[in-house]
Amino acid sequence: MLILVLNCGSSSAKFAVIDTQTEEGLASGIVENIGSNGFFKAKGHTQNKSKSIEAPTHSEAIFEIQQFLIQEQLIDRIEAVGHRVVHGGKYIQSKLISLDVIQYIESITQFAPLHQPAHVIGLQEAQKYFNKLPQVAVFDTAFHQTMPPKAYLYGLPYEIFEKHQIRRYGFHGTSHRYVSLEAARLLGKEKKDLNLLTAHLGNGSSATAILQGDCVDTTMGFTPLEGVLMGTRSGSLDPAILFYLNKTLGYDFDRLDTLLNKESGLLGLSGLSNDMRSITEAAQEGHERAQIALEVFCYKLARELGGIAMALPSIDALIFTGGIGENSVIVRQKVLQNLSLLGFKVDDFKNQEHGKNSNGIITQEQSTVAMVVPTNEELLIAIDTKNLVEKIS
Ligand code: ADP
Repeated sequence: MLILVLNCGSSSAKFAVIDTQTEEGLASGIVENIGSNGFFKAKGHTQNKSKSIEAPTHSEAIFEIQQFLIQEQLIDRIEAVGHRVVHGGKYIQSKLISLDVIQYIESITQFAPLHQPAHVIGLQEAQKYFNKLPQVAVFDTAFHQTMPPKAYLYGLPYEIFEKHQIRRYGFHGTSHRYVSLEAARLLGKEKKDLNLLTAHLGNGSSATAILQGDCVDTTMGFTPLEGVLMGTRSGSLDPAILFYLNKTLGYDFDRLDTLLNKESGLLGLSGLSNDMRSITEAAQEGHERAQIALEVFCYKLARELGGIAMALPSIDALIFTGGIGENSVIVRQKVLQNLSLLGFKVDDFKNQEHGKNSNGIITQEQSTVAMVVPTNEELLIAIDTKNLVEKIS
């Protein structure tokens, strides 16, 4: 079955056409800078495209994608559309799209104000262009809905949770779910026979504890700001710092929002870059603050992993994924060193090879297993879409 996967972000719209039988991508691309200098890049089987476009909103971006699919003669072969949606609120799994589902997604906009409005436009436009096709929403939060109250509740008055749904939701769920299934396949085990830690490390980063296939704790919370240090996000900190900055420097909420989301993390600590590749290169050349940023990133991640590991009776494997997790030898090495209490002993050669010749495994024989498993969220969105569509037909 050919599935069109759409991922409308805050200022971009990505797409991929995936054949669920071969798991191959037949076309993919992105419209970037929606709202300012729109730019369209796409790869198909007959052409590669890159050009500036007028895209004041996501509507024009979806139109451009649809035109490309017509030119590539894929449009009539696509049988369903799968949408990535950041926040699923109460939804515990992927959902077939209906008016009610779109309305619910819109009703929780305040939980993901940058992404949810883009998703809603993407859903509405796709209904227009692909109105004969079944459509499915796959939520970043859904995988984490199996967390028990002890993991998802904050230490706030209970009414704040009951009346305002302020709780930990977790994000990157599609990636955590995908790599946990892929790790089970690589280890030759059923997911119900495995207890896993997964670390998705990209521009945003989070880690998850998975007990026999179910998420039991994760590091991101009410928003994707909680947890580990990220490219430009601070991760967890003492909330009283905000009161202090407000009182002493007069920082208002908007200023604090920018500080924590856009000026902190690797960028804030290094004063150099939010990009891990630049940080590690500079650290190796002796840049002191890049070295500090790298150390803090790896230590804080290990500390968070150690924390969520307490939700598991044992650890069968720790999975690294995302741009940093898949590519950074030094980050994996430092994180595993910081986690030596949990029995991790890195194998330098296998780590250097990103586990490519050892079924993903990058640790020594007698060590707790750590693995590198490349993520593929689009593929899992396509598979979820196919499975739901097959159920109704
Ligand atoms: P996003 O969260 O936007 O999907 P990615 O998963 O692509 O991001 O991850 C981006 C991060 O991966 C950046 O910090 C980038 O520097 C890092 N990265 C990519 N390749 C390497 C590499 N070879 N070494 C270290 N970091 C890398």
